[in-house]
Amino acid sequence: MNNFEFMQTIRDEVGKLEKQTGYEVEILFEGKLKGNQIAMASRDKIVIGLSFMIRMPMDEVVEVILHEFGHVVTLNKYSGKVSAHGFEWQKEVRKLGGNPSRLYHGKFVNPIWVR
Ligand SMILES: [Zn+2]
Repeated sequence: MNNFEFMQTIRDEVGKLEKQTGYEVEILFEGKLKGNQIAMASRDKIVIGLSFMIRMPMDEVVEVILHEFGHVVTLNKYSGKVSAHGFEWQKEVRKLGGNPSRLYHGKFVNPIWVR
């Protein structure tokens, strides 16, 4: 999969979540994010660290997107008044079909994709 196809796959996955939730986001692709962050989200934006994400298996990429979209929903619903990876976020990630225990602070607990 080349960069263009990868970016399109991410847009498609995010598009499904936008339809499912009613929240719309801008997707930004960057080479590398700060530290070992792989992606990040705000109320209306998801930033993808392309150099990390493109090396990950697609099911892991989808988990990252679900993780970040969980932040989008939580930030919009609770206006940042709840903890970032707290109960509300976990509930929203599960609702989207993700597994909130897989990831912690944007990093993998078990980075199986790192060689
Ligand atoms: Zn997070």
